[in-house]
Amino acid sequence: MKLISIIIPIYNEKENVPLFFEEFLKINEQLKDKYLFELLFINDGSSDSSINELYKLEDDNKTNIIIKTLDFARNFGKEIALTAGIENADGDACLMIDADLQHPIELIPNFIKKWEEGFDVVIGVREHNKGEGIIKKMGSKLYYSVMNRISDTKIIPRATDFRIIDKSVIESFLKFTERKRMTRALIDWLGFKRDYIYFNANERKFGKASYDVVKLTKLALNSFINHSLFPLKIAGYLGALITIFFGPLGLFIFIGRYFTHSDFALSFTGSALLAIVNAFLIGIVLSSLGLIALYIANIENEVKNRPLYVVRKRRK
Ligand code: UDP
Ligand code: MG
Repeated sequence: MKLISIIIPIYNEKENVPLFFEEFLKINEQLKDKYLFELLFINDGSSDSSINELYKLEDDNKTNIIIKTLDFARNFGKEIALTAGIENADGDACLMIDADLQHPIELIPNFIKKWEEGFDVVIGVREHNKGEGIIKKMGSKLYYSVMNRISDTKIIPRATDFRIIDKSVIESFLKFTERKRMTRALIDWLGFKRDYIYFNANERKFGKASYDVVKLTKLALNSFINHSLFPLKIAGYLGALITIFFGPLGLFIFIGRYFTHSDFALSFTGSALLAIVNAFLIGIVLSSLGLIALYIANIENEVKNRPLYVVRKRRK
């Protein structure tokens, strides 16, 4: 029988944990003759009693479902939680799903079916997202259009973490060593044979979404820097543009003032000229420095080579 690992990142989901399990039981009932399931919960430093709920699930479990819980020592973020899940999954495939029931659990059999058909990666694509604000919606639109323009990691808009990946993809994924990561972008970068399943995201049942605009913006910026060199090159493009424009202009004014005495050139005072040139040079220098700083910060993070996460303890 094939083993399927289900990876569920948990951050303050105490009400959703039992609910999620209850829903999952229906899926298990449907498929238990063909598949064995392993639920891998990653408690990402929840400050509520999620961990107790998870241990209760483990202890009270009378089904054939394998339940495992990884308890992070602090909050490392969903991206790292998913990576930890993938690293610890023993399945022939692993499926990632949110605990808040926004990703419809009843679609799990469809994902498995497509995987059985031979797709290595089956990606859930959100069509509508109930209860999502206009800022989040516009932000996500902007993110995908910028990302696809500047990076060679092509990601399709509204693709989510709700996805199943085959063992071969897992093995390749484990070779990534970068720290600041967006799990789904890395999976997209890998390629493999993909297919998509469209779904409408449900509204969150309990608790509140912990990815606010600030957190999402940070994630987006990081993924730009990690997946594209364009930001680094902007300063260069800007510099080239400014040089092409201001070089000849400066030369023109210089010749006009001192040799041909043209009115246009004489209409610039010396200090105005200096101020314009200076301001632009400072602009170039600052933007270059700013961008280089971002990359250096990134390099520093990679070089530090800290453990990606710290597990407090593993039960059993
Ligand atoms: N999550 C996590 N660590 C975090 C934030 C969220 O593991 O720091 C989990 C959360 O418990 C949920 C999933 O990631 O299972 C999606 O989080 P959320 O609903 O807050 O995000 P959104 O639905 O806005 O994408
Ligand atoms: Mg959610």
